[in-house]
Amino acid sequence: MFKILFFAAIAAVIYFGWRSVRMKQMELEKRLDQQEKSVQKTQQSGERMVQCANCGVYVPESEAIRIGRDCYCCREHAEAGRRR
Ligand SMILES: [Zn+2]
Repeated sequence: MFKILFFAAIAAVIYFGWRSVRMKQMELEKRLDQQEKSVQKTQQSGERMVQCANCGVYVPESEAIRIGRDCYCCREHAEAGRRR
C-alpha cells in the first residue's frame, strides 16, 4: 500500500516538474514566436526592397525612383541610368 502511495507521489512530482518545465518552454516559445512575428511585421511594413539599376544599392520600394522597369536610389542615378 505504501509502495503505491510512494510511486504516486513520485509520479506527481515528475508530472508537476515536467509541467513547470513545459510551461517555461511554452513561455519561451511564445516569446520567440512574438519576436519572429515582430520581425516579420517589420519586414512586411518595411516593404519590398528594390535594387538601384545604376549603383546596385537596395532601397525601399516607396523611396525608389521607378522609371519604366528600372528602379533607382536617387534622382541623380535615375537620370544617369536613363542617359545610358
Ligand atoms: Zn543608385
